[in-house]
Amino acid sequence: MLHTLNAPQQAAVRHLDGPLLVLAGAGSGKTRVITQKIAYMVDQAGYDARHIAAITFTNKAAREMQERVHGIMDPARLKGLIVSTFHSLGLQIIRTEHAALGYKPRFSILDAADAMKIISDIIGSTDKDEVRGTVGTISRLKNDFMSPDAAMLNAQSDGELRIARAYRAYQDTLFAYQAVDFDDLIRLPVELFERDKDILTKWQLRLRYLLIDEYQDTNVCQYKLVKQLTGFHGKFTAVGDDDQSIYAWRGANVENLALLKEDFPRLEVIKLEQNYRSTSRILKAANAVISNNPKLFEKQLWSELGIGDPIAVVEMKDEEHEAETVAMRILAHKFEMRTKFSDYAILYRGNHQARIIESQLRNHKIPYQISGGQSFFDKAEIKDVLGYLRLIANENDDPAFIRAVTTPKRGVGNVTLEKLGGLAAERKISLFEAVHLPSFETLVQPAQYEALQTFCAFINRIQGRATREPAGALLKELLLAIDYETWLYDSDEPRPAEAKWKNVLELVAWFDKRAEENGDSLIDMTQKIALITLLEGREEEAPDAVRLTTLHASKGLEYPHVFLIGCEEGILPHQQSIDGGMVEEERRLMYVGITRAQRSLTISYCGKRKRAGEWQITEPSRFLLELPPEEIRISGRLAGKKNVVVSKEEGKAKLANLLAGLGSKNG
Ligand code: ATP
Ligand code: MG
Repeated sequence: MLHTLNAPQQAAVRHLDGPLLVLAGAGSGKTRVITQKIAYMVDQAGYDARHIAAITFTNKAAREMQERVHGIMDPARLKGLIVSTFHSLGLQIIRTEHAALGYKPRFSILDAADAMKIISDIIGSTDKDEVRGTVGTISRLKNDFMSPDAAMLNAQSDGELRIARAYRAYQDTLFAYQAVDFDDLIRLPVELFERDKDILTKWQLRLRYLLIDEYQDTNVCQYKLVKQLTGFHGKFTAVGDDDQSIYAWRGANVENLALLKEDFPRLEVIKLEQNYRSTSRILKAANAVISNNPKLFEKQLWSELGIGDPIAVVEMKDEEHEAETVAMRILAHKFEMRTKFSDYAILYRGNHQARIIESQLRNHKIPYQISGGQSFFDKAEIKDVLGYLRLIANENDDPAFIRAVTTPKRGVGNVTLEKLGGLAAERKISLFEAVHLPSFETLVQPAQYEALQTFCAFINRIQGRATREPAGALLKELLLAIDYETWLYDSDEPRPAEAKWKNVLELVAWFDKRAEENGDSLIDMTQKIALITLLEGREEEAPDAVRLTTLHASKGLEYPHVFLIGCEEGILPHQQSIDGGMVEEERRLMYVGITRAQRSLTISYCGKRKRAGEWQITEPSRFLLELPPEEIRISGRLAGKKNVVVSKEEGKAKLANLLAGLGSKNG
């Protein structure tokens, strides 16, 4: 089984008695070590698969890992194996231990929009930036495992005190709704394990060995969870690459790599240096760019896959031209090389860059699959339906209650809802519960009262059936009962009702399929969907299609031919990162992008770009000047500049000049 691995990989697989860190560059087979190690543990080392948990960062990565392990081993022997994201592991723990946490079994998972709404109410502001800022700061506190009390004590200014108060109120609200947010999925288990050693012991016995992929992106909370679960013996394998840490903005902490050595003095560190993914030229380019960052750990990467084609760096007139050129190049290349569409990936810094590419691909009839973008589950019609499902799962979920009771409109007006809200707040109960208070009847018009009673009775009836009956059929019945299709056609919104209804039917089909595959009930699926939305959106299933993805979502993946678009100052590196002194993180993102490519890499930038309706002249990204001049073929404005560059030193000097011109301290 181990013959498909090189010597250090084999050593990493065999090392089982103490903590292990595999620290290595992109494409060196870190993820492969994890999958092979799972198989080895079950097949040769006598582990029961139920005692092994492999943790990754995205649903997609988890799915791929599951498939890979099943590919090398009889699935019957892998029964009970946990392959999941940190967040779904957290969800599993909270589900099992809900009572100890004071939660009902059917708690809700709030999405980002709900969190914004709650915070907006708490701080009494509708200013989007202010609300988003507060949500972000609270999220950071949670990821740093700081409680509201601690935040209160630590507050150094009025501003910080205000945030701490908002944090406290926010947590109280979540609890009242019997809801958790994304960050709670990790924070709550850690909190529970800290105060209840019996429960922790139970989980330590269940999860006896942890394998963690993309370890460089763990935050404080996630690190604590790993430490708690692996306990004193430190039975884990963490694999990671400090140069690919790209989630600092979400609280990820590369120092966790260094911390491991302190917390686990017996930590073994294995380095992998052979890259099995990319040609030498691509590797050289990646190494050159990342060498401009200060180093945490020294790493070398080489490959035996041949020198490969030079990296193409192309200047385009504008975004339209860029999108069209990429589409044409894919068609021509595919024709010439007899490749598949799925051999190509287009990577970009921000989701908004996908739109123009999408329309050009459609023009050229090129099938594509987009991931990491605006989620299917974020569409208004889908959220409407999910509002019902959330309420059915947990009637204390007030945001879901409001959404469902007003969609479709059933004669319940704002005044009534405000009175209901007042009553619920006064008694510290949910809206759903408040409907049933005798005093509520006296507060509102009889017709409104009736409508709300009918609504709640309807929800109760479905609740009774939700755990027993097939999810898809029940959902169809619900849609009929609320006459949602008619409502869509009657409401006059710019987006056509047909498209919305089609999405709803797609959701029903998705439920049917999932129910068939896993026997999941309506309730199970409602929680799972919340996780999918929060993590990265649903993957479209398209076997032969060009992959479109953000750089963040491309982590861990590989594609034969990669187009990295929009390499301009202000985009990659992103303007906010330039302003905030975070260029190093952007450079790591560039490194991640380059190292996704197996055989060819085309990097493009535009000469001008439309911003807020105005054309602006753009500067090529500083990262382009960090590429090794001898490995790239340039066309466009940079070509002129490149002629001047003859040696590495001159290249560096030129870069320094450019950076000085940009007024940056970085590099
Ligand atoms: P990243 O940092 O991007 O996540 P990684 O270190 O996890 O990369 P893998 O995805 O595990 O790298 O491996 C990269 C590619 O190299 C995969 O296609 C994998 O199958 C292949 N590979 C890894 N190790 C070997 C090996 N010993 N022999 C042949 N192919 C290998
Ligand atoms: Mg990997």
